[in-house]
Amino acid sequence: MENDSTNPLTGKNILVTSHLKKYYPIRRGFNPFSRQKAKFIHAVDDVSITVPRGKTLAILGESGCGKTTLARAITLLAPPTSGEISFDGKTIVDGKKADVNFKKLYRDMQMVFQDPDSSLDPRLKVRDLVAEPCKGLLGVSRSEVDAMVMKSLKAVGLSAEHAERLPAQLSGGQKQRVAIARAVAPQPKLVILDEPTSALDASVQAQILNLLVDLQRNYNLTYVLITHNISVAEYLSDLLIVMYAGNIVEQGPTASIIAKPRHPYTVTLIASAPIPNPWKRNLLNTEIKGEVPSAINPPSGCKFNPRCPYATGVCAKEDPELREISPGQFVSCHNVEKTA
Ligand code: SF4
Repeated sequence: MENDSTNPLTGKNILVTSHLKKYYPIRRGFNPFSRQKAKFIHAVDDVSITVPRGKTLAILGESGCGKTTLARAITLLAPPTSGEISFDGKTIVDGKKADVNFKKLYRDMQMVFQDPDSSLDPRLKVRDLVAEPCKGLLGVSRSEVDAMVMKSLKAVGLSAEHAERLPAQLSGGQKQRVAIARAVAPQPKLVILDEPTSALDASVQAQILNLLVDLQRNYNLTYVLITHNISVAEYLSDLLIVMYAGNIVEQGPTASIIAKPRHPYTVTLIASAPIPNPWKRNLLNTEIKGEVPSAINPPSGCKFNPRCPYATGVCAKEDPELREISPGQFVSCHNVEKTA
């Protein structure tokens, strides 16, 4: 089925998910006659996102909010429980059914993982690591693969000399450059970046972020960035989605949300981000109190209500819907006027 969904600001969208859910069943022990109701971890719960071509959408949230599961569901590494995914004009998942040519999907959609030490095979030389997706996905000749490898290494700032090394002979930053070269070598349309700098030293993080900006411009890439770091989201992304306990709580242009967050969770998250100037730290005294809710038995109503300073009676009863509160900015909160 062709999908021609468009964004009025930016033209055609490359990725659209609609009511996407990813639940993990919990094993009930060894008793096959147990009458206990089946339980599920609600990792991603009814998430709809739209990613315009050539832009960067950041998905921001604490550890365990479902952002990495969402990325794995989009790439079909963890096929969704229900919902729809359209990629590059074609519906690839409709309900539980996937209708997809995996070779084509992974040629056009690549992923960079957080930790290059676990994503790169330590026994392969850099040349072979970068060549692997080209060989497997493109069906091109050996000389073409070699040319693509050298082009990708050059694009990420590595040389022919690095091509003959093993991952153990590289620094952390160089390993992440290899992981990025591997992702861009088959010339994908979309790259999912899962915490691409969080395993790196602070001094190297800036270099990798600048590299990602250059690659996006030169290769006309679209990024979906998974991060817990507001500064990284602010630097790289055009659009921002804030997730809490498997749901989207706020979404819109990154600049608008950072300048004026409206969901109480986003307000606290942004206010509690580290500030480089020590004299300005902790002036806001904004710490998110309480625990992240159970993904098996989430609280009724708004999932943030046990931790929310603005909660009222309705919050524990009714799940708020995402509402547009300013052009392009959507918030799911019953009492959004309290953060105005
Ligand atoms: Fe807080 Fe209620 Fe808004 Fe949820 S709906 S964020 S509990 S005020």
